[in-house]
Amino acid sequence: MSNLQDLITPCSPTWCPGCGDFGIWGAFKNAAVKQGWDNTNTCLVAGIGCHGHIVNYTKITSVEGLHGRPIPVATGIKIANHRLNVFVFTGDGDSLAEGGNHFIHACRRNHNITVILHDNAAYGLTVGQTSPTSPLGFKTKSTPGGNLDYPINPLALAIAAGATFVARGYTGDIPNLTELIIKANEHQGISIIDVLQPCQTFNKEYSHQFFQENCYELDEKYNPADKVEAFKKSLEWGLKQIPLGIFYKENKLSYESELPQLKEKPLIKNSVDRDLEELFEKYL
Ligand code: SF4
Repeated sequence: MSNLQDLITPCSPTWCPGCGDFGIWGAFKNAAVKQGWDNTNTCLVAGIGCHGHIVNYTKITSVEGLHGRPIPVATGIKIANHRLNVFVFTGDGDSLAEGGNHFIHACRRNHNITVILHDNAAYGLTVGQTSPTSPLGFKTKSTPGGNLDYPINPLALAIAAGATFVARGYTGDIPNLTELIIKANEHQGISIIDVLQPCQTFNKEYSHQFFQENCYELDEKYNPADKVEAFKKSLEWGLKQIPLGIFYKENKLSYESELPQLKEKPLIKNSVDRDLEELFEKYL
């Protein structure tokens, strides 16, 4: 992959101006160019929601699954071809409501995939209903009297369920988000990145201004190997108190590397060429 233009399809994005999906798309493309992710070594899977359009605009082989099901589709792809870099783009509604069970069980199985959670705390595509990460009291068409449900904490859920790389990014900070995506992909095991993104149209509470005023980066003193500390840190949320960065990281064998059929060949990223060489030697 030589430049960003090679990663863009002729489809023009239909996201609302200022939508956080643009930042995630930009960060992913930057990471893809840096790492050489393309059709020969990478597959993208998206669920249903505004986020799902990302696969229409990115020129890498992709699948847009059923609502809430991108994670099981991605785990199947990874098992079928464990050399592929497999990315899941999903939303807070998609993978914490409809696909909540898939999210939990993929975390505990430690599949070697990267899940990028577009977290805007609203159902944008269906014009603005309350989602599992919407704050208490949040007023939408589905909760005109204010949301009565306590929000799910995606980081705490992922850590508790057994995920081995858990991070939070912000769509307005593309350089840091690019690095997080690269590190998540390098991790051997499931990587969850909760990406805070404004829905300009349907969530006026979580605006760019709100995130810019209240987010901060975890510093070098923070130890992501400490699971108890990571869990405590994941509960931190408030004015000037929204941490970004890698909350938790653990070295553990991935699901795919434990499968006896796959143990015969080592897990090497970007190794499609090696397979072709073997085939050429055998048949030419
Ligand atoms: Fe983005 Fe919200 Fe518009 Fe959907 S409705 S494109 S999430 S700003």
